[in-house]
Amino acid sequence: MKLNSGKMPWEATYTSHPVYPSLEGDISCDCLIVGGGMGGASMAYRLSLSGASTVLIEKRDIAGGSSHANTGLLQIANDKTLTSCINTFGEANGVLFYKLCQEALGKILELPTKLDIDTQIIPRSSLLYASTPEDVALLRQEHETLNAHGFHSEFWDEDKVRAHYSFSKPAALYSKGDAETNPFRMVHSLIDKAHSGGVRIYEHTRATHYEYHADGVTCYTEHGRIFAKHVVFAMGYETQEMKKDRGAELINTYAIKTRPLAKLPKWHERSLLWETARPYLYFRTTRDNCIIAGGRDEQLTDPERREVRVLSQCQQLLEEVEALFPEVKGIGAEYCWGAVFGTTRDGLPYMGPHPDYPHCYFIEGYGGNGTAYSMIAAELLADTLAGRNRPELELFSLSRSAKPVPAPAVEA
Ligand SMILES: Cc1cc2nc3c(=O)[nH]c(=O)nc-3n(C[C@H](O)[C@H](O)[C@H](O)COP(=O)(O)OP(=O)(O)OC[C@H]3O[C@@H](n4cnc5c(N)ncnc54)[C@H](O)[C@@H]3O)c2cc1C
Repeated sequence: MKLNSGKMPWEATYTSHPVYPSLEGDISCDCLIVGGGMGGASMAYRLSLSGASTVLIEKRDIAGGSSHANTGLLQIANDKTLTSCINTFGEANGVLFYKLCQEALGKILELPTKLDIDTQIIPRSSLLYASTPEDVALLRQEHETLNAHGFHSEFWDEDKVRAHYSFSKPAALYSKGDAETNPFRMVHSLIDKAHSGGVRIYEHTRATHYEYHADGVTCYTEHGRIFAKHVVFAMGYETQEMKKDRGAELINTYAIKTRPLAKLPKWHERSLLWETARPYLYFRTTRDNCIIAGGRDEQLTDPERREVRVLSQCQQLLEEVEALFPEVKGIGAEYCWGAVFGTTRDGLPYMGPHPDYPHCYFIEGYGGNGTAYSMIAAELLADTLAGRNRPELELFSLSRSAKPVPAPAVEA
C-alpha cells in the first residue's frame, strides 16, 4: 500500500538515526512484533522493560510507514468527545477510554527521562474551538462532562479566546496535560532503547506469510524464518490487507509545515489547536518556529489521485493558516504531504487478539490519537503476554459489534 505522498519534515531533523540489519537465517523468540512504527516501537520498548525475548521486523525503514506522516499532536481528548463516548458506550466505558488516554499521555510525558535519543516531546495545552456558533452548546456540554469525570477543561468565551490568540472564535475548551512530539525521533528513540534492552531489530525484513501451530507461529520472511510463541501485528493501516475490519475505514489526509517564522503570531502557550467541525483542521507550532497544519480529509481510493491532490489540498491548508493568523500571510509551506489515514466507525481503536489468528495480537491505533493508542496497546498487551488479565481490552476488541459492550471489570 502506498501510505504517504509528498515531502514530510521529520527525517531531515534526524539524518544520523540508527540503522539495523535485515534478517538472514532462522531465529526464535517469545514474541515477534511485525511493524516498526509507533505501535511496534511502543510494544518493543514495553517488552524490553520486562526482559521478554523479543524480535521486531520492519519491511521498510524504521518509522518509514504512517508514523513518518504523523504530525505529532499528543492529546487526551479524542476525535469522539467524552460526551459522545458516554452516549455510545455507556458512562463506565466512555470514561475508561478517556482515562486510558490520560494515563498514556502521562507515560509519554515521562519518556524523555527514560530514553536516550531526544524525542522532542514537549508538554502543551490544547484549545478545542467552536467552528461555528451552533457548536458552542456542544462545547459547554463537553466541558461539563469532562469536569464531572475529573478531566481538566476550561470553558473560554469569545473574549477570552481573542485575548489569548490572534483569532476570534465563538467559544473554546482550553485543557492541560497534552504534548507535542517529533514522531520520527520518538519511534527511533523507543526502538533504540528496546534494542539496548535486548530486543532484536531487523529493518527491510518483510513478513510474507505465517504458519500457525499449537505452540506458536512460524513467520516467513524473504531470507529467514522466525519461530515465535506469540506475534504482535503492528502493521498500521496495511493490516487491512491481511484481514479486513468491518468497522475500519481508510481515507486520505493532508498536512503542511510552513517556512520558519521570525516571530510567532499571538498563540497562547503554543497550544495544540483543533476544532469541533468534522473532519477537523488542526494546528501546532514546531521548535524551529514553523506551523504545522493538517486536515482536509477526503475519501480517495486511488493513491495516484492523492499524488495529484497533495498540492491543491496543501494550498488550502496554507490558506486556513493565513485565515487563522493573518500576521503570517505569504509565509509559504516548506513541506506538503498527503497520507492514508485510518478511522473506525465507532471511534475506538482496535487492539487485542482475533479469533482467526491463534497466539496473535493486533495493534490498530486508528483515529487521530494513534500515538496514545499505541502506548495503551503496548501496556495492555505486554501485561496480557505476561499472564496478567487486562479486561480493558474488551473495549477495543477486534470482534466487537456495533452494540455497546458491557463495562469491563477493571480493578481500581
Ligand atoms: C498525516 C497524518 C497525521 C497524523 N497525525 C497524528 C497526530 O498528530 N497524533 C497522533 O497521535 N497520530 C497521528 N496520526 C496517526 C498516526 O500516524 C498513526 O496512528 C501511527 O503512526 C500508526 O503507527 P503504526 O505503528 O500503527 O503504523 P505505521 O507507522 O504505519 O507502522 C506500521 C509498520 O508496519 C510495517 N509493515 C507492514 N506490513 C509489514 C510486513 N508484512 N512485514 C514487516 N513490516 C510490515 C510498515 O512498513 C510500517 O512501517 C497521523 C496520521 C497521518 C497519516
